[in-house]
Amino acid sequence: MLEIKDLSFRYSRHSPMVLQGVDLVLKDGEIGILLGKNGSGKTTLFKNILCIQKPQGGSIRFDGEDLLKMKRQERARRVAYVPQSIHFGALSVFDTVLMGRVSYFGYKAGKEDEDAVWAILRDMRLEDYAARNVEQLSGGERQKIAIARALAQEPRLLVFDEPTGNLDIANEQLILSEAQRVAKEKNIGILTSLHDLNQALDLGDRFFFMKDGQIRHTGGPEIVTEAVIREIFDAEVRIVEIEGKKIIINGGQKT
Ligand code: ADP
Repeated sequence: MLEIKDLSFRYSRHSPMVLQGVDLVLKDGEIGILLGKNGSGKTTLFKNILCIQKPQGGSIRFDGEDLLKMKRQERARRVAYVPQSIHFGALSVFDTVLMGRVSYFGYKAGKEDEDAVWAILRDMRLEDYAARNVEQLSGGERQKIAIARALAQEPRLLVFDEPTGNLDIANEQLILSEAQRVAKEKNIGILTSLHDLNQALDLGDRFFFMKDGQIRHTGGPEIVTEAVIREIFDAEVRIVEIEGKKIIINGGQKT
């Protein structure tokens, strides 16, 4: 589905390269997680995938087609962004989600668009929220509406930048399980970044460890090792396995 090859990017001619030789492949329905220190280039990579920034070199393809050369509407049907928080003013939940379909209806929404919104609200158990004002919802609920709005675009890939950044633990769980459900039930790919390595292990199918604008390690849970975490984060951790599941414990060697 998504195939990034040898991507390079810098913010201006005089600034250093922020992305260098980035290769990344994500298949339909896969959850890919970018892991790396602050400043390693995760957000910049998302901005390139979303065509907010234009790379200096390399390619971003979707099913073999060049994402950078697509019209906005075509791109919207492939990749949707889920912001950490939605600020559209005092709109109802229904209208907020309907806005996700703007690439389908242009100026005026039709019955098809409204039906599509109802289907998403039903599926996400948000029907009772339809008439409520988004501004009056909690952070977790707003994030869920942001997912609903992105899904209204009928994309194949959702891009989330730190989805749990502003949320308490219950809402974190709500959003991560919703992301997992969307990927597995709807076969929609997810590319996200997370700070919590245990959350990442719970959620991810593929991991992309970034350092200084490069992806240094790519693979399944088997690549998440103490040595890789030391290299990428300069942090000591210990990894234990319980019932086949890896758990990361802070402060590995200092026992
Ligand atoms: P991350 O998401 O991993 O924290 P970013 O992609 O935000 O990393 O940042 C990568 C590098 O790009 C950092 O060195 C950061 O200072 C730089 N950077 C980010 N945004 C801009 C910008 N708008 N202009 C110039 N440099 C930027």
